[in-house]
Amino acid sequence: MIRLEHINRTFTVGDELVHGLDDVSLQLEDGDYVSIMGPSGSGKSTLLNVLGLLDQPDGGRYFLNGDDVTQLSEQDQARVRREKVGCVFQVFHLVPRLTAAENVALPLTLAGVPHEERDRRVNEVLASLNLTDRAHHRPDQLSGGQRQRVAIARAVVTKPVLLLCDEPTGNLDHASGIDVINILEQLNAEGITLLLVTHDQELGNRADRIIHMIDGKVQS
Ligand code: ADP
Ligand code: MG
Repeated sequence: MIRLEHINRTFTVGDELVHGLDDVSLQLEDGDYVSIMGPSGSGKSTLLNVLGLLDQPDGGRYFLNGDDVTQLSEQDQARVRREKVGCVFQVFHLVPRLTAAENVALPLTLAGVPHEERDRRVNEVLASLNLTDRAHHRPDQLSGGQRQRVAIARAVVTKPVLLLCDEPTGNLDHASGIDVINILEQLNAEGITLLLVTHDQELGNRADRIIHMIDGKVQS
């Protein structure tokens, strides 16, 4: 379960205060599928960054599986992020010199997983995303849709409970976008909690629940 209580995130730009998140409270249950929609600048990415422990709110509390993660040290937050959260972005952030398999292996290497288990899990997740025949390709040898599938594989190889996706289809053609959404929905069907930021009404409507954001506030 995820619960945000009165989360604020303010940015200072010059001498102006910008409310990235303005008193946001919400609750998600395990296995939920929620889309986040709203105009550009409404706080969608800021919300995902806070949920992914990539950014610190300046006020409020964030409970992840009952623990108040806002109270944790930076080091403990990094561990929670590594173990529980996967992130997928519009731009794929793959390491250009590494193969698909090596990119997917990175989080396991960082977590100190022994190499036999690492290779087994990488092969397993690549197979489940139909990427086995692309395992030894570098990102520049893959299509956009394939790159995003590698990025998803890298995000879920650690078996996170929460998958945060910030406009994951934004750089893809329609067919590749649908392919990526189908994969995300399959992962959700297997139990992962899925949060999807999208501009696309049709994709947003596929979720069980839509969160609308305006000016850093959650509308519904
Ligand atoms: P969205 O993803 O919905 O387009 P964001 O969450 O990126 O919106 O941004 C919400 C608001 O916070 C915007 O007004 C944006 O300019 C501001 N903002 C986001 N990140 C920063 C930052 N690092 N520094 C200053 N302002 C920021
Ligand atoms: Mg954004």
